[in-house]
Amino acid sequence: MDLVEWSAKKMGELDYDIHPLGSPVQIMEEYDYAQLVDMIVAAKKNLPPERPLHLFGAGHPMMLAIAVALGCDLFDSAAYALFAKDDRYMTATRTLKLEDLTELPCRCPVCTGTGLEALAGTPKREREAMLARHNLYVTMEEMMAVKQAIREGTLWEHLEAKCRSHPKLYDAFKRLAAHSSFLEAHDPLVGRRTKGIFLYDRLSLSRPEVLRHKTRIIERYQRPPGRDVALLLPNPPERPFNKSPLSERIMEGLKGAGNVHLCFYGAPFGIVPSELAETYPLSQYESSVDGGTDLVEAIEKFIAVNAYRKAVVLMNGPRIKVKNAIISDTVEEACSEVLSDASTA
Ligand SMILES: [Zn+2]
Repeated sequence: MDLVEWSAKKMGELDYDIHPLGSPVQIMEEYDYAQLVDMIVAAKKNLPPERPLHLFGAGHPMMLAIAVALGCDLFDSAAYALFAKDDRYMTATRTLKLEDLTELPCRCPVCTGTGLEALAGTPKREREAMLARHNLYVTMEEMMAVKQAIREGTLWEHLEAKCRSHPKLYDAFKRLAAHSSFLEAHDPLVGRRTKGIFLYDRLSLSRPEVLRHKTRIIERYQRPPGRDVALLLPNPPERPFNKSPLSERIMEGLKGAGNVHLCFYGAPFGIVPSELAETYPLSQYESSVDGGTDLVEAIEKFIAVNAYRKAVVLMNGPRIKVKNAIISDTVEEACSEVLSDASTA
């Protein structure tokens, strides 16, 4: 990796329009996609960002999305032909031996024009050409799907689905998650995405939008002036949180106390202040992620950096200690905690 970094730095100083990264073919043959991730990141971090990066030997539809997500722009590969020579049939997520097929699970002209038996019975040279064409169709189909995902802003979702098709790809996805701050730094903040985001499990939380919110809520956010008593509620099931029945009950209970700052906590975004609850993507998501173990730490940090005079945390289920906060079981108790302070203030 240090040689990739060094080479990228040196090459970046020269007057080229485009850079290739070679040659990860052996790594890819062994399906060592996690190492491929490190290699691409090592190169990208050290090359001028405006120059396209060409990844040598990347031609299997299963790994194109991850290479694109890491910033590769161009690909070339003989995989479609080499695989065909070996009677290997590509699909979007794996490679099958022709002899192991019982169906042709593809709608390309080769597969629809020939039955499996006819294909298997075709003389070697001709069969190889047919398989090569099928393999190219499958590769191009994936390329188009990736492009569509980029336009829609759903590349991360595409990647998550893709990476669950093979354990080695899942390893690579975990490695990509480890580079999440690098990805976040280069992910456009606004403008591209029109859809809500999908979050599946804790690994999904390393996506740029989530990481960005969690970092900025601690490093950049300031509570509204005068609201020096925090009331933190667990995320209600309804979104936006600030218009949920729980929020309405609380607002009623607070009787207009002007110094109370209502916030929400929970997966996937950690802390969501009520005045930001409708800001994209804090309400525009679908998630099956369970509450994180780092939530208490997030609440404690948030209370500390905003220097609240008092903080009350409403907690469903077992009470967990939170530094410098009062824990309440019920909405009524939480409201009266907050109000007792408001009245003595
Ligand atoms: Zn086909």
